[in-house]
Amino acid sequence: MHNALTIDVEDYFMVSAFAGIVKIEEWSQYESRVERNTELLLDLLDEYETKATFFTLGWIAERYPSLIRKIFDRGHELASHGYSHRLVYDLTPEVFKEDTRTTKKIIEDVIGAEIIGYRAASYSVTKRSLWALDILAEEGFLYDSSIFPIRHDRYGYHEFDRFSKVVELQNSQRIVELPLSTVRLIGRNLPIAGGGYLRLLPLRFIKWGIGSINRKENRPAIIYLHPWELDPGQPRINGSKLSVFRHHVNIKNTEQKLKNLVGSFDFAPVKVVYAQEIESIRGSI
Ligand SMILES: [Zn+2]
Repeated sequence: MHNALTIDVEDYFMVSAFAGIVKIEEWSQYESRVERNTELLLDLLDEYETKATFFTLGWIAERYPSLIRKIFDRGHELASHGYSHRLVYDLTPEVFKEDTRTTKKIIEDVIGAEIIGYRAASYSVTKRSLWALDILAEEGFLYDSSIFPIRHDRYGYHEFDRFSKVVELQNSQRIVELPLSTVRLIGRNLPIAGGGYLRLLPLRFIKWGIGSINRKENRPAIIYLHPWELDPGQPRINGSKLSVFRHHVNIKNTEQKLKNLVGSFDFAPVKVVYAQEIESIRGSI
């Protein structure tokens, strides 16, 4: 079974945890490490002959078009992570629509091909911002991977389905929703396979989790990480103690962990893993 490997392409200072300290207008003043880190990731994936989906910020695609073309030319899927990492539930539907449309066009112009996938900054499609799915479908997206079916201080919609689901929207539109992977443990959904969870949890536990999703539940897992998670040398941002801990914990081990995972499981881009669901939607709209 193929699992989906997804990379959210953003730099270390763009994350939501530091948004109160680093303003978007100041981004260009920070040392950029996204090209170096993404290229490291591309080499690692080549080594294991693995393809992934790269959800990319419009801001990054505008400034580093050659990086985006390199990702595409090396056989990976490009998708949208919004323009500048604003949280969906903080935006009005009008602003979200504009942001989504602009970013899709920027990425498509750079690679000369259509993109069909979206992931919101910090999984900010929650119960109160579900309207975003209607807008994504209107703007031509066939899948979204922004709902995290857990409880968390910044995101999460714990009642949502744990696995891929075709969501029926207004005006007979549909979209495939691909929630981030969790395992059921002690009556709760436990995130296992991305970002800080991936760095914090023992590799053995993550592998057990992916194996259990594949074998017991017969479903693919969706893994996510960021290029900055492979960069122990990144400058430190003076955020809150909790944010700094979450951001830096076990960064020096991520590369080995990722190598072990891509060596142990089969991974593919989202559009390959969920081709059937995606094509069923494409045919109907
Ligand atoms: Zn992000």
